[in-house]
Amino acid sequence: MTRGTMKILLPNSDRNQAGATLKAGAVIKAVEHFKLQQDVTIKWANGTHRHGAYRWRKGVGHVITLSTYYSAEDTSRTLWHELTHALQIERAASKGKAYADWSAEQRRYAYSVRPIEVQARKFAEHYHPQLPLAA
Ligand SMILES: [Zn+2]
Repeated sequence: MTRGTMKILLPNSDRNQAGATLKAGAVIKAVEHFKLQQDVTIKWANGTHRHGAYRWRKGVGHVITLSTYYSAEDTSRTLWHELTHALQIERAASKGKAYADWSAEQRRYAYSVRPIEVQARKFAEHYHPQLPLAA
């Protein structure tokens, strides 16, 4: 689906292995709320070691992977968490910060206290109850 000039690409399969499905309309609302300008690609991932992951890919945009074994609630919380990272990166870029520098700066902190992770956890707790992204 297209929003303005940016695209949101949802996973090919509707449901993950746990039976959860993304709510496309809610995902669009979340992206609009964060005013994301770059394309967002969301995929199910088979790995069991991670809940979700965010990556910035040059020429592709935001790439978010979500565990295919996650319930709807965990999928929604995790997607809010990863969308927060997309927001953080666009904000950093708008201040003229290069991704590599921004990333290196964040990695000086341990994961549990890393500012971007603290904010992503806070936003997931805040936004998930208001607008669940999966059912
Ligand atoms: Zn994170």
